[in-house]
Amino acid sequence: MVTAALPYANGPVHIGHLAGCYIPADIYVRYQRAQKRDIKFIGGSDEHGVPITIRAMKEGITPQQVVDKYHAIIKESFEQMNISFDIYSRTSNPVHHETASAFFKKLYDDGLFEEKETEQYYDEKAKTFLADRYIVGTCPVCGNPNAYGDQCENCGSSLSPEQLINPRSALSDATPVKRKTKHWYFPLKDYELWLKEWVLEGHKEWKNNVYGQCKSWLDTGLQSRAMTRDSNWGIKVPLPDAEGKVLYVWFDAPIGYISATKELTDQWADYWCKDDTKLVHFIGKDNIVFHCIIFPAMLKAHGNYVLPDNVPANEFLNIEGEKVSTSRNWAVWVHDYIKDFPGMQDVLRYVLCANAPETKDNDFTWKDFQDRNNSELVSIFGNFVNRVFVLMHKLCNGKVPPLHQDALDEKDAIIMREIENAKTKVESLLEQYKFREALFEIIDLSRKGNKYMQEKEPWIVAKSLEANPAAQKSIDNTLHICLQLTANLAILINPFLPDTAKKMSHMMKVVDKMLDWENAGKLTLLKTGYSLREPQLLFRKIEDAEITAQVEKLKAGLVKPATQEPAKADEKTKEQAEPKPAIQYDDFAKLDLKVGTIIAAGKVEKADKLLKLQVDMGFEKRTIVSGIAQHFKPEDIVGRQVVVVANLAPRKMRGIESNGMILMAEDNNGKLHFVSPDNKINPGAGVS
Ligand SMILES: [Zn+2]
Repeated sequence: MVTAALPYANGPVHIGHLAGCYIPADIYVRYQRAQKRDIKFIGGSDEHGVPITIRAMKEGITPQQVVDKYHAIIKESFEQMNISFDIYSRTSNPVHHETASAFFKKLYDDGLFEEKETEQYYDEKAKTFLADRYIVGTCPVCGNPNAYGDQCENCGSSLSPEQLINPRSALSDATPVKRKTKHWYFPLKDYELWLKEWVLEGHKEWKNNVYGQCKSWLDTGLQSRAMTRDSNWGIKVPLPDAEGKVLYVWFDAPIGYISATKELTDQWADYWCKDDTKLVHFIGKDNIVFHCIIFPAMLKAHGNYVLPDNVPANEFLNIEGEKVSTSRNWAVWVHDYIKDFPGMQDVLRYVLCANAPETKDNDFTWKDFQDRNNSELVSIFGNFVNRVFVLMHKLCNGKVPPLHQDALDEKDAIIMREIENAKTKVESLLEQYKFREALFEIIDLSRKGNKYMQEKEPWIVAKSLEANPAAQKSIDNTLHICLQLTANLAILINPFLPDTAKKMSHMMKVVDKMLDWENAGKLTLLKTGYSLREPQLLFRKIEDAEITAQVEKLKAGLVKPATQEPAKADEKTKEQAEPKPAIQYDDFAKLDLKVGTIIAAGKVEKADKLLKLQVDMGFEKRTIVSGIAQHFKPEDIVGRQVVVVANLAPRKMRGIESNGMILMAEDNNGKLHFVSPDNKINPGAGVS
């Protein structure tokens, strides 16, 4: 049972999605199918959750219209990219509503949920509760006026809505108020010990990035999580006193894998409830906690289902050195690619696999796309296959020549061994989810084919035939072996580049069955005397102009940041130049500004924008966390005098309590400068 993350149906898919999980999942599934293993590949759109209701509100349409529109677009993009789902379903289907409700009800009936009444932010204008993400306000750390209630994207600080200065609803600009509401919490804490054993002891083979993230969650300790939300869009909580409440989207979405399997086959339980099932979730790194901790704990609590065997999550793919941002339109959209490069799906599949963010974030650039196409697909793989076919038609009448055992030499023996070894190598890498390396092995095999052909030079040997007719044997052997190598390349490349494998099968006049994995490594795939078709080019060169056009299109498509995103430096300056409304002296006097001296500075783990500072305030020494790590090195600022807002209420950032805020000035280029006395003075001196 292979699942790929359910894409969220409020936007189209971009190549980062493909690289993150759909291409690796599809390669894995196609490989397993070629191995003739019983496999089902499940996908579908995730159609619930708050962002969809918000998009609907903004566009003046219904949530159903939003998901109908994007489900269709997403589904088409996957089909065009040859992502070979056995079913691509959607979580708004009735079978999913039934399955997810029954799942929830079972946990409820077993008495697993904690019922808790809490106060949540509520937007009285929009008449809806607000998730943290939908509360915006000024960041207390860096002053970004559009920080979210869970995080400031400008300085990277983790925030809670209470910390925002002047909080407002992202929906209506209303000031959020607190209201009581009841929800059902899943006690993750109760599963902590079991999870530690199951993941940390039982799955040491998981990828480092996945294992590491799980470990850090488990080391920090798990909290109960609300599995319901106040909303009218989603799966209704199947309890009598739950009007206006739906299942939390991360409760219902993963159950969608089960529902879609039910939709696909009556034998669905064979894939979900039997111990001999191997369940593999392909996801991007932002989903690790949900697939490695929360969903397994839910499955364990339910008791009837198998647990994932592996969750080979990828990191993120950046575009031209910058993080993908859908709101800024900094992305390469799949439907655009298909339009601009028709029939070239395999090239994108190739580049996204060759450059996959398997162990760390990676960068997609159009230049690299061109280079990999031109120098790997065209010059190595495509060139080898084309030469073999051209020479076979020229020197062997378009038929597979015989292999003369008595004329084999050392070079023939070496390349024949390479063909046999390649199968074992590629297979072992695929089983370990190392798709990049597996792909490189295949390209390497075609590179070796080119080298072999170059060394044997049958076109030169052909010139000596009149004087030495026996030389025909050498020509036959070379081309026979090269043709068997070509057939092997078709089998090996098939999971990665299915269109290319199909073209190769056509040229070789073989049926699909030849591409079965059990045929890989064999040197008897094409029968002697069998006549083959004329070659067709597998790949074409990509010109500089096409690449320039793509880069320009990307830059031109960049939209001005939405209100909720931090403004770019130049826009910010304008914003800041505008004077704020006047205040009275009393307002100013509430601030306790003091001079302090930085006596120690260090980085904050996992927060690339934060520094942890020790500041001598004269009367005491304090810890202050400041969002300046991208502007200053810790060692450079020890000894600096700064102005501190000394009476700012303490708050925790990345687990560190920060006591106070350091004043910074920002220049037109977005660079930060300290505000400090012009001569060194005693720490603790008042500023007024
Ligand atoms: Zn901030």
